[in-house]
Amino acid sequence: MIKLSEKKDCCGCEACVQRCPKECIEMRLDEEGFSYPRINERLCIDCGLCEKVCPVINRSEKRQPVKVYASENKNETVRKESSSGGIFTLLAEQVIEEGGVVFGARFNENWEVVHSYCESKEGLAQFRGSKYVQSRIGRAFLEAESFIKAGRKVLFSGTPCQIAGLRLFLKKEYENLLTVDFVCHGVPSPGVFQKYLREIIARKGGRKNSVFTHPNPAQMRDISRIHFRDKSLGWKKFSFSLTLSTPAGVEQNTVFLSEPLNKNIYLKGFLSNLYLRPSCHACPVRDLKSGSDITLGDYWGITRVHPAYRNDDKGVSLVLVNTEKGFLSYERISEETTSLESDFRKAVAINPSIAKDVDMPCKRKDFFTMYKDRSFSLIDSVSLLTRESKIVRWSKFIRRVNNRMKFEICRRIKK
Ligand SMILES: Cc1cc2nc3c(=O)[nH]c(=O)nc-3n(C[C@H](O)[C@H](O)[C@H](O)COP(=O)(O)OP(=O)(O)OC[C@H]3O[C@@H](n4cnc5c(N)ncnc54)[C@H](O)[C@@H]3O)c2cc1C
Ligand code: SF4
Ligand code: SF4
Ligand code: SF4
Repeated sequence: MIKLSEKKDCCGCEACVQRCPKECIEMRLDEEGFSYPRINERLCIDCGLCEKVCPVINRSEKRQPVKVYASENKNETVRKESSSGGIFTLLAEQVIEEGGVVFGARFNENWEVVHSYCESKEGLAQFRGSKYVQSRIGRAFLEAESFIKAGRKVLFSGTPCQIAGLRLFLKKEYENLLTVDFVCHGVPSPGVFQKYLREIIARKGGRKNSVFTHPNPAQMRDISRIHFRDKSLGWKKFSFSLTLSTPAGVEQNTVFLSEPLNKNIYLKGFLSNLYLRPSCHACPVRDLKSGSDITLGDYWGITRVHPAYRNDDKGVSLVLVNTEKGFLSYERISEETTSLESDFRKAVAINPSIAKDVDMPCKRKDFFTMYKDRSFSLIDSVSLLTRESKIVRWSKFIRRVNNRMKFEICRRIKK
């Protein structure tokens, strides 16, 4: 039976819950807003199956991809809606065309992130775009298993630890399963995200501001769309945006909030690693250990690796093809992409999350002390903990002035 001595020893993949023959494991929320398994020892028969499917206990070897690409979906609309180059949608559409089923992460009616499946191309829209919140797997591994055993082709997408959990859960390789994960920085707490949503709605709800035209105080149920990677200001300067459903008498949905990554409190806290799951600071599956067929990511710094690349700031995917099966799938969609073969060593250098955990900052503890104390607002706590010190602000200012001077000198020399 699984015994967790430290929180970092569980990535929350829920493989153990779904494999237990006595159904005596349930996921319980902790005080940081993450879920962990709790075993009912009275029902447990000590069969050890839960340990056999756990990706933290059963780790795989480090891998190198067979091929690496910088790639963009030629469909501009899909690329705009996707986080990087929109390659996930192409892979998924291919599986749907073959009569298959696609699993991914979507929002439910309470704006929680959950795993589910779809069988149509239209259904893929709900999975598009990164949701910077840990998704709940629920019964997705069991559902995927039944489709696979019925002979349907299945594409399962998720975090690398979810893919590792699924593969252990299934026990063997299946020809009709394609697994797609992504380069994973880490997943933020679902509890923190819910608190953030409630606070912004409550704070801005009744007030008019430049983007808000809703006549009544807004409520959670009025939200119609949340986008963590809105590309209105470009791929590199992505925004968090939240749209409300159409109120009576107003023709268009209203954009309630739209803030770039350096201004939005939730994204700032995420990128400062204040509320990642403890296991993400000791990730069991970095270095492509998940066993996935394809790993997707953002090809940040593409022009540093390929100076001639035409970067239109609409998103470029890094595609790591890890297996022969992944290679055949990627080949089938390649005509619908603009792509270029790239180099793994260089890709790792500009995307450290492939191989390296982020350190747990000391401010994480301060954040959760404030989070647990109900008298602190989440927005105020994050802005306090992500505020730059005067020294940092000054050094950034001096660097900016220096760069501008260098640019001016170069311009004059050229002239
Ligand atoms: C929490 C998180 C952290 C990430 N960290 C990095 C990083 O450090 N470096 C990097 O290069 N890329 C990172 N990515 C991946 C990147 O943002 C894109 O998702 C990836 O490049 C695929 O983009 P796309 O344009 O092909 O498709 P998109 O349409 O953007 O891809 C969506 C896919 O992601 C899945 N997905 C979305 N949210 C979640 C979630 N919460 N849990 C599980 N699956 C989810 C969907 O099911 C779907 O398969 C991260 C993604 C997430 C969700
Ligand atoms: S040992 Fe077996 S019965 Fe007990 S919790 Fe684990 S899977 Fe369930
Ligand atoms: S990592 Fe997954 S399988 Fe292991 S204990 Fe946590 S939820 Fe269970
Ligand atoms: S960083 Fe590792 S442990 Fe955390 S969600 Fe990603 S794959 Fe899982």
